[in-house]
Order: sequence, then C-alpha cells, then structure tokens
Amino acid sequence: MTSAIELAAAVRRGDTTATSLAEGALAAIAAGDGAINAFLHVDAEGALAAARRVDAAVANSEDPGPLAGVPVALKDNLCTRGVPTTAASRILEDWRPPYTATVVDRLVGAGAVPVGKTNLDEFAMGSSTENSAYGPTRNPRNHARVPGGSSGGSAAAVAAGMVAIGLGSDTGGSIRQPAALCGVVGFKPTYGMVSRYGLIAFASSLDQIGPLARTVADAAVCLEVIAGHDPRDSTSLREPAPSLVDALHDGVQGKTIGLVRELVDGSAPDVEAAVAASAVTLRDAGATVIEMSIPELRLGLSAYYLIAPAEASSNLARYDGVRYGLRVDADDLTAMNVATRTKGFGDEVKRRIMLGTYALSAGYYDAYYGRAQRVRTLLSRAFAVAYGRADLLLGATAPTTAFELGAKTTDPMAMYLSDVFTIPSNLSGDPAMTVPFGSGADGLPVGVQLLGPARSERLVVAAAQVLEDAAPS
Ligand code: GLN
Repeated sequence: MTSAIELAAAVRRGDTTATSLAEGALAAIAAGDGAINAFLHVDAEGALAAARRVDAAVANSEDPGPLAGVPVALKDNLCTRGVPTTAASRILEDWRPPYTATVVDRLVGAGAVPVGKTNLDEFAMGSSTENSAYGPTRNPRNHARVPGGSSGGSAAAVAAGMVAIGLGSDTGGSIRQPAALCGVVGFKPTYGMVSRYGLIAFASSLDQIGPLARTVADAAVCLEVIAGHDPRDSTSLREPAPSLVDALHDGVQGKTIGLVRELVDGSAPDVEAAVAASAVTLRDAGATVIEMSIPELRLGLSAYYLIAPAEASSNLARYDGVRYGLRVDADDLTAMNVATRTKGFGDEVKRRIMLGTYALSAGYYDAYYGRAQRVRTLLSRAFAVAYGRADLLLGATAPTTAFELGAKTTDPMAMYLSDVFTIPSNLSGDPAMTVPFGSGADGLPVGVQLLGPARSERLVVAAAQVLEDAAPS
C-alpha cells in the first residue's frame, strides 16, 4: 500500500494526478464501505474539485504542498463549511456548518483532498463506534469485530486503504485506541499543539485533534501540517509547529525508556507479549529500558469519568432545539427543549450529561468534580517525576485486540475500561502515539503506546519509527 508521502511525491512529480487518486479513493469507498460503514458522508464533488485545484497547481509549476493530492478522511465532529457534520448524532442531522475547522483548512492548504466525513461514537463518547446514531463501523480486518472508537470510521478508512490519512480527535484515547484495534498509527499531540477551532467540543480540557495513518512518517507529516498556533483557539500554544519529519531517523540511542507496569497490567497475554517485544526492540536500538511503576495512573479512569462528563454536560447544553439541527416542537420552550434533547441524543450521551450534571451540582461539586481535579494534578505530577527518570514511557495502547460487536454495549464500565491505558496522557495533556506491533492470538493487530512529556513529539516519532522498522508483520 502506498504511503501518503509517496502519493504526494508522485503527484508533485507529475507521475500521477490528484484527480486519479481521488477517483481511486471514491471507487474504493463505493466498493468497500457498504460492509464497513466508515463514512457518514462522501463528498465526491468536493473531493474532485479539490483534486482539480491541485492538478492545476502542478500544471502551473506551483507546489501544492507536502500532502499534494493525498485523499484524507475527516472525523465527522470536524466542521466543514456547507458539508453535513453530525458528530454521529441525530441532534445534528442535516446540519451544515457555516465555517470550516482550522485543521481542515490546513490540510487542504497542504494539498490534501478530503473525500468525506467518518463515523464515530456520538459526540465522540465511546470506544467502539457502536454509539453512532447511524449504525456501527466494522473492523476492516474482521467484520464481526469493532474498529474501536470513537474515531473508528477514520481508523477503518485508513486500515481498509480507502484513504491514506484520517483525522481523529482524542479526549481519552479516541485516536490511539481505534488505531491500535485497526492496525494503524495514531498520534495524539500535546494539548494545544493543534487548533480545535471547528472541532465539535466534547470535553474541552482534554480534546485534541491528531492523525491516523499507515506509517509513522505519514502521521508526522500530517501533524506538521495541522499543528501550530491559531488565534481562533484560545488554548492553542503560541509557538510554530514542530518539525517532525527531520526527527524520524534520530533513533533512540542513549535514551531511557520507562516500561510502565500500570500501562500493561490487566492487558491480555498477547498484548503484554507485544509490549515486551517492543521493549526488546528499543533496547536493541540502543535505548536503556527500565521498568517503572506510576501507581497514580490507576486513578486516571475515575478522574476522567468525572471531568469528561462534567465538561460534556456544559458543552452539550447548546443543543437546545433553538440554534442547531433538530427541533421537536412542543407547547412551550421548556417542553420543546426536553422533547428535542430526548429524541436527539442517544443513551450514552444522556448518561454522560446526567453523570456530569450530578458531578457539578451544588453539594456534590467538591466531593466529585473538585476531587477529580485534584487527582488530575496528582497524576500530572507523577508523570513529571517519571519524566525525570525516563525520556519516554512505553505501555500497551488497549488491553485487548478488537472485540466482537455487541460484546460491551450493555456494560458501560467494561467499555470505559478499554481506555484505561490512553486516558492518563489526556489528563496530563502530554503527547502519545500508538504503533502497530504484531498481532494477537486471534491474528488481529496489537498496538503499543509511546508516551512523552509535553512538546516531546520529536522524541516520540523517532522511537515510533524504530518500532515500525522492526515490527513483526
Ligand atoms: N472512550 C472514551 C470516552 O468514551 C474516550 C473518547 C474520546 O477520546 N473521545 O469518553
């Protein structure tokens, strides 16, 4: 399968055209997506128009950019002007945003060609893409299994070879966990590295946008393109995008990498074996691998399931039947709000709104939300101590390979636990990346996770490249 970098090089050289790549992606989606349901909306017209602009630039001897003609997929919580954007919710059915997310503008500015909007758990709440109001996505490697979530559509579209790159969002693991379950690379950058302008908010202190790709290098190029300060996102870091591509071959010689017990314990034996094998690979490449324990990480899941729902309950208050999408008419304003939200939101979204409203309510605020915030600080400090001893940390991305559709839909706690290894770096705001590293007992992909301190993306990609180069097939 050709990488995004190779595709862009071929387009820039004139060996192929953006139009033929777009046509190829659209044909692959038409042929394969009936069975997978990775896409909620395919924008053939928009894709072909964008591709023609790239081809015209090449014909004029202008450089369309590092992603020239590369077909990309956008998680459907990223706003695209005039193109349906639903966050996989009924409440936004048929909504066409009046503006485009910064990341999408930047991708297009670098020559990429968005072909459509991908499926997700409603408002990105979930770990299997089964919480979509528009039906689940299936794992391209085994259609009886989930692709993970919430960016399951983007992960599946990349894994199935429909597009070279997908964008996802990661609040508690939603880029990394589906990437691991579908056998692709997923990168959650440092909080603030990538603008969230135009991302439909779930939990604003945790949400980050990042790439899913087939290679570490493709993820690095994509992140270089979408990163960097944006005055339209007040949480955006005031610094230029890091250069990552020139760090890809830095290796790990002389680095110390901490294999973290709490990021492996509780995972299936085949996942544990893959992590152990990845540690050997890093050691063989010249790193010192030390075993570490960070007990505070065990508190991450509980803190997350107070903080994320609290922020979600506030962010989702705007869907009131007045300003956006769905309205269910009723006799008075309150009845209209209630009827609209009752019909428009799915069960998991309602559960989060109730959990979050409760955690923020007078009398409970200190005991739940306040306490969770203190745990968050504790966890960030524990990471800081760990990064005093190690340059990077290593662990599993998800506790198991892709599970069966329906296996966890009636047990929210079991579903929440599939993010136990990814949630800590959202709470700390630090970067983390998953790289495919062999397969499990069922033949399905296993991902291993590299974590680094804030702004250590260059180190992370260098170590990820070492793993990719040595990964068992
Ligand atoms: N699965 C986690 C949740 O349901 C994380 C989701 C995400 O990262 N968007 O909240």
